[in-house]
Amino acid sequence: MKIKEIHIFSHNMPVKNGPYRIASSTVHALDTTLVKIVADNGLFGWGETCPVGPTYQPQHAKGAVAAIQEMAQGLIGTDPLQPVQLRRKMDSLLNGHRYAKAAIDIAAYDLLGKHVGMRVADLLGGAVTERVPSYYASGIGEPEEIARIAEERAREGYPRMQIKVGGGRPVEVDIAVVRKVWERVGTRMRLAVDGNRSLNTRDALRLSRECLDIPFVLEQPCNTIEEIKAIRSQLHHAIYLDENGEDLNTVLRAVGEGICDGFGMKVTRIGGLHAMATFRDICEVRSMPHTCDDAWGGDIIHAACTHIGATVQPRLQEGVWLAQPYVEGNYDPENGVNIEGGHIKLPHRPRSRRHSRRESFRLARFFIRLTHRFRSCGYRDSRLTDFPVAGLSTSRTVCLHISSDSRRLQGMKTAPMRDILGARSP
Ligand SMILES: [Mg+2]
Repeated sequence: MKIKEIHIFSHNMPVKNGPYRIASSTVHALDTTLVKIVADNGLFGWGETCPVGPTYQPQHAKGAVAAIQEMAQGLIGTDPLQPVQLRRKMDSLLNGHRYAKAAIDIAAYDLLGKHVGMRVADLLGGAVTERVPSYYASGIGEPEEIARIAEERAREGYPRMQIKVGGGRPVEVDIAVVRKVWERVGTRMRLAVDGNRSLNTRDALRLSRECLDIPFVLEQPCNTIEEIKAIRSQLHHAIYLDENGEDLNTVLRAVGEGICDGFGMKVTRIGGLHAMATFRDICEVRSMPHTCDDAWGGDIIHAACTHIGATVQPRLQEGVWLAQPYVEGNYDPENGVNIEGGHIKLPHRPRSRRHSRRESFRLARFFIRLTHRFRSCGYRDSRLTDFPVAGLSTSRTVCLHISSDSRRLQGMKTAPMRDILGARSP
């Protein structure tokens, strides 16, 4: 099997009840990048990557589009069913940019799952649960507000809560937030306190010292590994790396030098599902807990995180965070990936191995593997931009305004973009 076409799409997602505020940024809306790879037998797979703004990590949405465009021509003719060879091919075409390569990797796993009739979780080693635990990230707020949110999430069934701190405010406020949450929820939820790189070593030490009696993990308090390493022996809480866990080499260093006790890990940051499975196995060797998240994204990212999350040993599973509570709607309103009772249901087996021509025009086929029986999709008021890759395809394939009527879709392929943007799913 060979890759015949690659299509790149950008989709703007407003933050529901926004903005979402963390130490490094305040976001009102985010551009996500979706990739569709089409094989020479007509099978196709979907991938996605969505940095949470340009300052959370050294990644941004326009960079993802540019990086995929840079690689796309060279990927034509590559076998999408061989993830290792595909990763090596991408590395031969572009140095770095793992977050963009991740979208191709995810799309290839989707296509592989369709080809062999297996769920992606099973391709990645096998699911150990059909109900994957999630966790809730609070955003930065005042003590009463965050404590109220924590209580609500505990009642809903979330097993874990992440409290965002830092961002330049006095550390006394952060300490008050943590204490108030602990006072309200106690041990009903496991707690993480995430500084998102924003605390200096002085404040990180004070936060840990003044919350000595509260059992939380301290996630990425400072900007660099060196700062964290410098104060590690003085801290009273377990340390997790998140933003600093940029690649597998850094993970090996952190594990080998004993810099941290666990990780908050992002699927696209580390390079996609294949790299994430390697990361999972490294952590298992050293019994290090970790999350399976992404920085942001829509249903495709949500599905990818859920599938790899389902393969993690329960004793090491810190949860799958999804942006879903902050995103309005789903790509498919009937079968979206949603958190219910603090957990995410893993999809069942695909219904059939082969796709029909009619169904080939449904985004549904992706979600049969990565989510759950998507039949149509329709962000009715979304902004959608097609980035045709020169030489690969001249078609204007519609993504989010997909129609189950293939004749109608064929007609739309050559339509001006303004008409496509006005299209509606039936
Ligand atoms: Mg984090």
